[in-house]
Amino acid sequence: MTIPLPATKIVCTIGPSSSSSGVIASLIEAGMSVARLNFSHGSHEDHAKVVTRVRHEAHRQNRFVAIMQDLQGPKIRLGLFPSGKVLIETGASFTLTTENVSCNASIASVSHKGLPGDVRAGDEIRINDGLVRLRVHSVSGRRVDCKVTEGGEIGDRKGVNLPGRNVSMPSLTRKDAADLVLGLALDVDYVALSFVRTAADVAGLKKKIRAAGKDIPVIAKLEKAQAVENLASILSVVDGVLVARGDLGVETELTDLPMLQKRILREASRAGVVAITATQMLESMTHNPMPTRAEVSDVANAVLDGTDAVMLSGETASGEYPVEAVVTMRKVAFSAEAQREAFPYDLTESLGIPGVVAEAACRAAVKASASRIVAFTRSGLTARMVSKFRPATPVVAFTAFESSACRMALFNGVEPFVLPETETMRADRVVELAVKFLREKNMAGRGDRLVFVYGSVGGHCDKMRVVQI
Ligand code: PEP
Repeated sequence: MTIPLPATKIVCTIGPSSSSSGVIASLIEAGMSVARLNFSHGSHEDHAKVVTRVRHEAHRQNRFVAIMQDLQGPKIRLGLFPSGKVLIETGASFTLTTENVSCNASIASVSHKGLPGDVRAGDEIRINDGLVRLRVHSVSGRRVDCKVTEGGEIGDRKGVNLPGRNVSMPSLTRKDAADLVLGLALDVDYVALSFVRTAADVAGLKKKIRAAGKDIPVIAKLEKAQAVENLASILSVVDGVLVARGDLGVETELTDLPMLQKRILREASRAGVVAITATQMLESMTHNPMPTRAEVSDVANAVLDGTDAVMLSGETASGEYPVEAVVTMRKVAFSAEAQREAFPYDLTESLGIPGVVAEAACRAAVKASASRIVAFTRSGLTARMVSKFRPATPVVAFTAFESSACRMALFNGVEPFVLPETETMRADRVVELAVKFLREKNMAGRGDRLVFVYGSVGGHCDKMRVVQI
């Protein structure tokens, strides 16, 4: 049985708690629209298995679920500790080195060979999500000697952040390039790039994807102050952004994070770019069946701020209640969406002809009391445009391509369907076919009005038609 889903889409990170076919099936039933594969963890073999399972389960449930490959990007990590973890004391001396050493409470190796060149005396280095803080005292050869200003626990492969510094690592590392080859072979629907700094980082990845003969949309993970500074240019080249609050909260002042989130979501809305809000949304549900009041407020506020999708990380990857977390998100999203009119936010500025037509369709649907807006789309662009105007009217999108339908699973308020025969049909025939399809599915009935948006065959959206059945 399929349950009604909110307009806000739910992204689930798949990990040990959720990689079995059974849990994947339950996540889809509960409302997952996008499965995120975190390439910071897991083997190629594991990821390939998850892709097969998600595709199979989505097909079995007659749903389209997008698969998002999340590339690790230039993340700096500590090496391995013989004891797994150690406690380092505030006020102690601590050395980070690019040499391969056995890590302990006074020295640890780091994965980034360029670290000594990237930091200066006086810089702050943050470890383990910013819980532990070091102040650089001096740099000599391959070693960076520091004072611990905030002590705490550090351990195997914990993340290292250099707030405000430009890390001298390529945007797409050797590991990312190898992971991308797998992602392309698996036909993932989105590729997300971590630690994006400039629009050129996104362009570089897009070039690599095109060179492989593919055309896969790219999501920029915004987790550096530099990315926020370059937001306008990044939004002009990217298909989607992800507010990666984990690292963004370490790379910037944690207390500025709520306002950065609001700004990114507003700018993404204006630019017609899809936005995902991520990290610690229902963190306490990693170990508890109920969220906190603060967490449900956070999810609701992201919806009211205009996010297209909300994401679960550890909650579904390694938590004890992955399915309950999705159910909670679904319910909170429904509740917040019911209040959307009372909390308006900046909408997309009409973007080219597809945007103008999409905006007109959203208005026409209200004026005509239409029961649905129906988009015909090859790539999904028409549906994305309609979605970004956040119509109160439900949107269905027809495409000839399964890949486009999966991508549209991420778009707020859009329910995708595949009708292969529409690719070469004349518009009036496509309208007839869509009406027949919707009537057969009890999604439209006699007397209903529908607002259609579509383009000339092979072209971008430039037409709108209002039909009464
Ligand atoms: C984040 O930092 O919030 C994030 C989503 O990225 P990752 O989980 O890859 O660290």
